[in-house]
Amino acid sequence: MKFTRRTLLKFAGIGTAVVAMLPRVAFAARNSLRTVRTGIQPGNKTRLVIETGQRPSYSVSYPANQLVVTLSNTAANASLAPSLVGGSLVTAITQVQSGDKLQIIADLAKPINEIPRDNIMLLSPNGDNDYRLVLDFAAASGAPVVATTNTTNKKTSAPSRKYVIVIDAGHGGKDPGCIGKGGTQEKVVVLSVAKKLKSKLDAAGFQTYLTRSDDTYLKLAHRASIGEKKHADLFLSLHANANPSRSMQGFSVYTLSEKASDEEAAKLADAENAADKIDVSGFEQFDKDIRIALSSLQQHAVAEMSVEYANGCANQFKRAKITQQPGPDVRHAPFAVLRSTVPGALIELGHLSNATEEKLLKSADHQNKLVAAIVKSVQSYNFDV
Ligand SMILES: [Zn+2]
Repeated sequence: MKFTRRTLLKFAGIGTAVVAMLPRVAFAARNSLRTVRTGIQPGNKTRLVIETGQRPSYSVSYPANQLVVTLSNTAANASLAPSLVGGSLVTAITQVQSGDKLQIIADLAKPINEIPRDNIMLLSPNGDNDYRLVLDFAAASGAPVVATTNTTNKKTSAPSRKYVIVIDAGHGGKDPGCIGKGGTQEKVVVLSVAKKLKSKLDAAGFQTYLTRSDDTYLKLAHRASIGEKKHADLFLSLHANANPSRSMQGFSVYTLSEKASDEEAAKLADAENAADKIDVSGFEQFDKDIRIALSSLQQHAVAEMSVEYANGCANQFKRAKITQQPGPDVRHAPFAVLRSTVPGALIELGHLSNATEEKLLKSADHQNKLVAAIVKSVQSYNFDV
């Protein structure tokens, strides 16, 4: 769910009343504004500090007599007045929520130049502080500067980070996954596809990690925790399916939910989760930790982003004319491997229980086709929204 209307919050000075119009509904903003404050730095520089709950994705623009910081996918904070010191260039702060973007508009006493890269810092949480975006600036000296317009919302020179994708080849080691009539093992097929996917995504400019790069058995919680440790933007778990009906064919895409979307999804989650019946220790605790770490709002956001990715993924498979298992484009089930703060999906690439698809899944051509579709799905996924 997104904001349904423009929301405007006006603050002026310290401790003044806050007029807020916030939507009452929950929404999928990944980030939230905590505080805004100003200070004075040596050299009579003004420091503007914007504190957010998560690492912000931002841009800076300079309309006349204003400095505007636009935060992607961030919710306004109606309950907190900014702390503005006397003598700084910032005379008032206004928050403008437009869709899932939050603009923080600083009214300035004097014009400023574009803030150089070195004077914009992004600090990680420490002590009582969350993420802080820190901007230091002084009044423009010499000839008055013609303020640039706010038409482009241009990106500042924040170091651009590669998006991180964790690719999880399902099963491995003592857990072969499902096995086709011709003897093809799921763990072998998905590892081969995972490796190809890694090299294609690396070439496309993503930072990728495999949960396993050889025939190793990994617990599901361990796989999920790799996504957390690598601060992944997307977690993709690759599998192949089996069905009692040998005529059943096609790919399917799943996201995490507490309740399965249908009986088949429930059975599949049971089957995939059974990998841990081989070794169940550790999962309960991890699951609990993640639940505590995630607020319900964040859980909602992660789920929405996962579904958005999964829909795009199903679309790319269909565009590539890969056979789809009958049913909805995206199904939901309580997959242990998807339990984390990282948006993601579990992709069943096809049915090893079907003779035709078993042959296809073994073939390099078909594997390349699957990989190409997944690469497109990652490229078309909107990581920032
Ligand atoms: Zn599997």
